[in-house]
Amino acid sequence: MRNLEFYLPICAFSQNCLKIRIRLAGMENYFPAKKGSFLRVSQKKNFLICDFIKMPHTKMRLFMNYAIGIDIGGTNTKLGAVDEKGNVFEHHEFKTTDYGDFASYMHALELAIGELCAKIPSADKCVGIGIGAPNGNYYKGTIEFAPNLPFGESAPIVEALRMVFGYKHIYLSNDANAAALGEKIYGGGRNLDHFIVITLGTGLGSGIIVDGKLLLGADGFAGELGHVCAVPNGRVCGCGKRGCLEAYVSATGIKRTFLEMLSKYNGVSSISNLTYSELDAKIIEDAAKAGDIAAKETYEITGALLGRCLADFVCFSRPSAIFLFGGPVKSGELIFAPTRRALDENSMPVFKGKVKVLPSELPASDAAILGASAMVWHAIELEA
Ligand SMILES: [Zn+2]
Repeated sequence: MRNLEFYLPICAFSQNCLKIRIRLAGMENYFPAKKGSFLRVSQKKNFLICDFIKMPHTKMRLFMNYAIGIDIGGTNTKLGAVDEKGNVFEHHEFKTTDYGDFASYMHALELAIGELCAKIPSADKCVGIGIGAPNGNYYKGTIEFAPNLPFGESAPIVEALRMVFGYKHIYLSNDANAAALGEKIYGGGRNLDHFIVITLGTGLGSGIIVDGKLLLGADGFAGELGHVCAVPNGRVCGCGKRGCLEAYVSATGIKRTFLEMLSKYNGVSSISNLTYSELDAKIIEDAAKAGDIAAKETYEITGALLGRCLADFVCFSRPSAIFLFGGPVKSGELIFAPTRRALDENSMPVFKGKVKVLPSELPASDAAILGASAMVWHAIELEA
C-alpha cells in the first residue's frame, strides 16, 4: 500500500478544540489539538501518525489560489505565479526576440505557461491570466501595432490563450495600466479609489484609477499622459508630436535636458566627458548628488515640469495620490522635491496641498508581473 501524507492548516479547526479525531483508510484515532502551524497526518503501514509542524515555504502554498502575470517586452517575456497578497512564488522567462511571428511566439508562451504551472503544487488553483504588453487593447484582447514586437497590426492573444487554457479570467492591457492595477491590488493604492501611477523609464507611462476602477477610455488606451503637451513646439517626441511630457520627463528626457545644461554651463560638469550613449539617468543622478551643478539643475527642471503637468492631471480626476515608479524615481528627493513644489505652485486653490506624490510601493523587480496578475484579482473583486 502507498504511504499517504497530507497537511491540514491548524486554523481550519476551532481555537477551542481539545482533540481532533482522524479517520483514514478504516483507521481512527484521537490526537490532542496543539496550537501550531499545520497538522501533518501520515499513514505508515497500519499506523496513523499525527504531529504538528511548521510548514516549509513550498508546502505553505498547498491551499492557495494564484494568478499568472505575464510581462511581454520587446526583448524578454517574463511570467510569474502570484497569490492574492502579491507574493510571486514561481518565475519563468524566455526571449521574445527568439520568435519571428505571432504563431511561433504563442507556441513558446503556451509551453512557458505550462512549465510554470507544472512547478506549482497541484492543490493550488490558477484563477486566470493577466498580460501586460505594449499597445495591449483591454477590450479586444489584442496587441495592436506594438513597436518592437513582430505581431502585425492585431494579435489576438487573449482569445488564443483562452482556447488553450480555458480560464474565464484572461486580461490584457498596456504596461502602465497594469502597473496602476498592481498599485491598487498590492501597493500603496490598496485603500484608495482615486489615484494616478506614472511610470518613468525610456518613456513616461500612466494609469489612472477613478472610483476604484481603471480608466480605460473608448478603446482601452486611455491614460497616455506622457503625450500631453508640456512645452508648446518643444522637443520632438517618439510619437511624432512636439513637446510631449515624455520627451522631458523620462530617462531619455533627463539625458536630453542634461545636454542642454552642459551647453548652458559651457561644458563644465564632472561627467562632461561622457557621450550621449554612455550617459544615463543614474549617472546624472549620482553626479547631482555629488554636487554637479548641471546635473542638479537637470533634475530640478525635470521635477518642475512633471509637477506642473501633475497639477493639470489633478484638475481632471482629483486623485488622492500620485505614485511615481521607475529608475529616475530612485533618485528620491532629487526628483520628488521639485515635483511636489511645482505641483503645489500650479495647483488650483481648491486642490492645493491635498494630493500626495509618493514612490510606488511595488518592488521594481516584479512590478510588471504583479501589475499583469493584478488585472485578474481586480476583475474577481469587481464581480464579488
Ligand atoms: Zn509624444
